[in-house]
Amino acid sequence: MPRQFFVGGNFKMNGVSESIASIVKNLNAAKLDSTTEVVISPPAIYLALTRELANPNIGVAAQNVYDKPNGAFTGEISVEQLRDAKINWAVIGHSERRVILKESDEFIARKTKAAVEGGVSVILCIGETLEEREANKTIEVVTRQLNAVAKELSKEQWEKVVIAYEPVWAIGTGKVATTEQAQEVHAAIRKWLSETISAEAADNVRIIYGGSVSEKNCRELATQPDVDGFLVGGASLKPAFVDIINARI
Ligand code: PEP
Repeated sequence: MPRQFFVGGNFKMNGVSESIASIVKNLNAAKLDSTTEVVISPPAIYLALTRELANPNIGVAAQNVYDKPNGAFTGEISVEQLRDAKINWAVIGHSERRVILKESDEFIARKTKAAVEGGVSVILCIGETLEEREANKTIEVVTRQLNAVAKELSKEQWEKVVIAYEPVWAIGTGKVATTEQAQEVHAAIRKWLSETISAEAADNVRIIYGGSVSEKNCRELATQPDVDGFLVGGASLKPAFVDIINARI
């Protein structure tokens, strides 16, 4: 079976109830490619509102989750609490959390395990900085980030993960990776899945691209054999998000 195209919208720390409700209502009313899985990720405080307003075919993701089940962890949200709010997805390892909040590969791996074991699917973000790309370390960096997660997950649990390759230098910069750059890294990630996890994981795990995806560049990126969709930041707040969801029609 071909991998289902996947488009995620990461609202980051943007929006208030009125603007988020308006984005969701526009999505509900739009004609979306029914073969594409769509998951939107509002700030935590608007998860329940978003889940309540969004059509059932639109998934909702938290932008983070904690690795412990409960307790004295001020400001954190558990997997059980997400499930209780009917949130079935979490974005984990976004570069803004890796860089600004200094989240380590190991911490991200533990959170991924906690989410998957608790029934929350994961959009796992990986990617290199500009400095790392210029030092020809892209594959080494994404492999290191993936190996940390491989230590925590069983082979079967990878089916609950969508890998988002997001070069840090392309996020929010307007500087999108070329189709060749994206395809090259996606193919390397698929090879890693095949060699490290299993042939099934290599066939089934979606590898999506993130980094300044827009309605202008999404169609060409979507033609690449190992690009199974997108994680969209800035453009997910705009009407253009619908065109990105519909990149293949
Ligand atoms: C993101 O936040 O995951 C992202 C890809 O942002 P942008 O599309 O704005 O570059």
